[in-house]
Amino acid sequence: MDDIVFIGDWVKDRILGSGSFGTVVLWKHKYTEEKLAIKTCKWGSELTAKHKERWTKEVEMLQCCNNPNIVGTKKLPPEFILGLERANPSKLPILCMEYCSGGDLRQVLNKPDACGGLKENQVRQILSDIRNAMQFLHTNKITHRDLKPENIVLHTSDSSNKSEDIQGQRKVSYKLIDLGYAKEIDSNSICGSFVGTLQYLAPEIFYSKTYSNSVDFWSFGLLAFEIICGIRPFLPYLAPVQWMPHVKKKSHEHICVFETFYEDVEYSSEIFPENRISKPFKILMEKWLQVALEWDPKMRGRDAPSKVTFNLPSEQKEAASKVVIFDLLESILAKKIIKVFSVTTLSHLAYEINDSTTVEMLKLWINNDIKIPVQEQIIISVATYIVIGNEDQVVKYWNENNAPMLYVYGKKSIVDDNIEPIVPIAVRRCLEHPKALYNYKNSQNLYRNGFYFVLSQMEIYDCLINGLFARAESLKHESKQLIVKHNSVDKDMGKLLAKKEIIMKTTALGKKHIEHLKENSIGTNFLGGFEKIFKEVDDQIDKIDKLQCAWSQLSIRLQSAARRSNEAISTDLNNFVTKYNFQTIFTNALKSYNSFKKSDFYFENKSKDIKTQFYNVSDIVRSSYDCLKLRSKIVMEMQNQTFIQKLKDLSVELSKISEIVINAAETTEKLSSCLETLIDELTNCMWSTISLVIRDADHISELPYSVVSFQKRDFKVGEPVSNHITLPNKVEDVQLKSLIQESLKIRKYQTSLCEKLNSQQMSLQKSVYDFSFLDGE
Ligand code: ADP
Ligand code: MG
Repeated sequence: MDDIVFIGDWVKDRILGSGSFGTVVLWKHKYTEEKLAIKTCKWGSELTAKHKERWTKEVEMLQCCNNPNIVGTKKLPPEFILGLERANPSKLPILCMEYCSGGDLRQVLNKPDACGGLKENQVRQILSDIRNAMQFLHTNKITHRDLKPENIVLHTSDSSNKSEDIQGQRKVSYKLIDLGYAKEIDSNSICGSFVGTLQYLAPEIFYSKTYSNSVDFWSFGLLAFEIICGIRPFLPYLAPVQWMPHVKKKSHEHICVFETFYEDVEYSSEIFPENRISKPFKILMEKWLQVALEWDPKMRGRDAPSKVTFNLPSEQKEAASKVVIFDLLESILAKKIIKVFSVTTLSHLAYEINDSTTVEMLKLWINNDIKIPVQEQIIISVATYIVIGNEDQVVKYWNENNAPMLYVYGKKSIVDDNIEPIVPIAVRRCLEHPKALYNYKNSQNLYRNGFYFVLSQMEIYDCLINGLFARAESLKHESKQLIVKHNSVDKDMGKLLAKKEIIMKTTALGKKHIEHLKENSIGTNFLGGFEKIFKEVDDQIDKIDKLQCAWSQLSIRLQSAARRSNEAISTDLNNFVTKYNFQTIFTNALKSYNSFKKSDFYFENKSKDIKTQFYNVSDIVRSSYDCLKLRSKIVMEMQNQTFIQKLKDLSVELSKISEIVINAAETTEKLSSCLETLIDELTNCMWSTISLVIRDADHISELPYSVVSFQKRDFKVGEPVSNHITLPNKVEDVQLKSLIQESLKIRKYQTSLCEKLNSQQMSLQKSVYDFSFLDGE
């Protein structure tokens, strides 16, 4: 087949993979650029009838499986039948598939950065896609039986389909290939053939002649564990015959079995801490893995086993429970987990949220984890660089990306200088015994963990720098918001000052009048109310003056803070990153890791004996040590950086200014309404005084103008009104005067008459015989 390079307009590009039976080749069309992955069987007469049947079945089955997570088939261009005649000695059907350009999952897991597992969003997507494919197969009564990273390929969606682009990256989907061993079976029926790649096979395939589709649950569990931790869960350095007796002893809760540094076998119900997924997701996946990695095939993938179901005879177990593995995984993947990076403690935090989780609740959880009191936490959205409020809903900031969605800072300290890093146990041990020699397994473990440690410290450093940048941006935003708020308070302040002017003028005039009245001892008994109001006005004006003075100082302070917040700190940050970074350490660690991997690969393939020898691990120990040293140096140096000081000062200053602005706004409003009340009181006082005075209208002409009229402006204070009253003619005036005198006389007479009547009435009550009153007028 190697010599066939052209078939019609098709050009052979390269071999994509070659298994025990088939070879998959990528073909490209000369003109249309179309690509096809074509799988042919490499054997001829050696094949048994059973092999042939199985091959034919795979091609037929794949052609029937129409699912986005199972590789799609294409119609084989007719020229290939003849063109590949020589490469297809068995004459078995040729499988023509869509080409998946991202390689297979094994290649992804072999990359150094996958040594501590894949990132959470990638893990989620693989689980979701493979769940979809497996459920499709099982619903159609097909057991795959060979689920493993090599049989999952990465399909990158067409770049022309822009809607699927995520942040400039093309969306990848994972597809199952290689149904070579799959066979249609009824879920209750059994199949007796021995197939599959050893490490991922369910144990019963080895020890039992019969098995059901729950063998796929086991492989799925193994695959899930490996993509999360970068290593298989059950004694990964041993062959199945060696690990099986140990794994058989595990309880339902146990999801991994491993050898300790001292070669003891240990069981654990937890995922290894060296991973890249969030804590809540880890806990959820541990529960799922217990279901998937259940030893008993009849209970595997089913409801949480209770003592009751465990004690049932084997045949009844299945009937007493139901398959939950797919639904359980779906519900786990549907959960929303918010990722927060704590700049202050340099730690990744994560919490499961729902649509009603508030920021305040989140702050309580954060306080639980890193002990920063709720009122001292500042939380910033990574998307907007804005400080979010306690009442806000957290879900607004959630997304499916891997990076932190929120940053949290303590008000008192932006970056703490006393936070210990989390160091993998293998790295810690080698740092304590740097000269020790390690056996194969321990050194494997050390290289994986050492490189993982460097990687995770780099990631934390990235988050720290981004977090500081975000804080600077948020302060810029805060100062802008403060200016807006300041300007609105400033307007209100202007209105208050205008009111102050009016009332000051009014009271000044009032005071002058009162002084004059006092001098002339006129109406002094009416003036107490006014004097009280004037005193109150003076007090308020005093307060307004003080506020105005403080306000103008604050305006200057705010301007200065706003200017400082706009001074870019990114230059300072960039300079810091240029000086302190993990680049050299990373390059060295990568080199060590790769050269160990290379020798590992060599040993795995050439000689098993060499695995019994001891290794010098000084290179990875050096990298781990350098990494730790640099980390503590960064944290220490950070404290002295001007940008940290600037951020801290500005943070404090803006929050103080904000407090003052809020305070000033309240005071302005209070004083303004106070002035209004005083104006009302003054008006009231005037009118009640006027009404009082008017009641004694006899002497109206003698009253000073100020009490009587406000309309004439040519009055002098204290001048009698009569000076300004122009009567139509003197005669009328005389007549009017005599009329008034007349009426006064009558009133006087009436009054004395009344008095007399009253006293006589009283006398009458004293003596009915006394008629002396008749002697009067
Ligand atoms: P085998 O039955 O020999 O294991 P597979 O069908 O699993 O053959 O294919 C072998 C390898 O070829 C896979 O591991 C994968 O790397 C590659 N491969 C198979 N199909 C495709 C495809 N459609 N697109 C890209 N690569 C593929
Ligand atoms: Mg394969």
